[in-house]
Amino acid sequence: MILRVPDYYDEFKCIASNCRDVCCRGWEIDVDEDTKNYYMSLDNEIGDRLRAGLGEAEDGTAIFKLKKNGRCPFLNSANLCDICIKMGEESLSEICTEYPRFGIEYGTVLQKCLSLACEEVGRIIFNKNEPIAIVDYEKPEIQYDLAEDDQEREEIAFLEEVQNKLIEIIENRDKKLKVRIVEFLEYASKAQEAFNAGEFDVKKIDKVAEDVLKIDTEAKLWKDKKASFENFKIRYDIFNSLETINEEWITFKEDMYKAYSDEEVYTNMLDAFVASDSFRENDYENLMVYFIFRYFMNSVYDNNVFSKAKVAVYCSRFILDMDAYTFNKNGEIYTNVNRIDNAKLFSKEVEHSEENMEVVEDEMNFTDSKDLLM
Ligand code: SF4
Repeated sequence: MILRVPDYYDEFKCIASNCRDVCCRGWEIDVDEDTKNYYMSLDNEIGDRLRAGLGEAEDGTAIFKLKKNGRCPFLNSANLCDICIKMGEESLSEICTEYPRFGIEYGTVLQKCLSLACEEVGRIIFNKNEPIAIVDYEKPEIQYDLAEDDQEREEIAFLEEVQNKLIEIIENRDKKLKVRIVEFLEYASKAQEAFNAGEFDVKKIDKVAEDVLKIDTEAKLWKDKKASFENFKIRYDIFNSLETINEEWITFKEDMYKAYSDEEVYTNMLDAFVASDSFRENDYENLMVYFIFRYFMNSVYDNNVFSKAKVAVYCSRFILDMDAYTFNKNGEIYTNVNRIDNAKLFSKEVEHSEENMEVVEDEMNFTDSKDLLM
């Protein structure tokens, strides 16, 4: 088995009581079957507490019954977990142990990333100045192959190549990010066509790469196109249709919408941010790499290559809208904490609901690539 991770993966360590956030607050925390059975078998005081704290979700999954204030019953006043303190990390349920790590499995690969919903992860990602590398670790002690047949292996190999190429395009710092994004979308579109036609060989990938180079002239033309309030509204409307998870999100997006009142105000606010020293192009490059690495290989299971690429652009572009709003609201000041908080707010709202991510990806099928950019 191969463990595939971004190069900053091992830098993460939960900062626990030093964290400004309580990451499990307000969430339905699933307890996997093995952990539930273990908790039920404990014949001691913490066992009694655990049994009293367990409830059931609508679909029958075991969960911790949250308190009225949305806190887990095992989160103490110092914002530390009593289960971990009293019984050690190995006693935590799967989700509590794994968070903020998320994985996709395909073929012989386990691909893992760290979620931007954790502020420590945001700190690591936005501190990265060099392009993010994807690293493979061989794990011969774990053997599996999830591919059902040779055709599926061929498809997986193709999609892995496409993922690598998409990351390479987005990290090509010889070009402005806007140009890279046009190339990125064109490449993904061509890759989707090749995939649909059942052409999975490396030669086809090389052909796709050649096609991407050809569109460079058009990309240069797009570079100078102004940001559009109409396109912001398209993005905003999609987000407005999502299930709301955080109260903070409602206030933020409504205030942002009011502030971006018309074309002129929107473009002035965006231009002011992009022209300032607070704007760092690399942050949006790192976000693009994050979103593509987190979601792209799910196309092994649903064949939706192009929409995954669009999701990466759409999400990064909306975070830019959020950042420009925050910069202007703060009197043209934008700190690293603002950067981390906006990405965290976005991630908690959108990424932590599978349904929301599905809505966003479905919407991408009806969204013109050019609307994503401006
Ligand atoms: S948000 Fe991240 S750093 Fe903070 S408590 Fe949760 S896992 Fe730890």
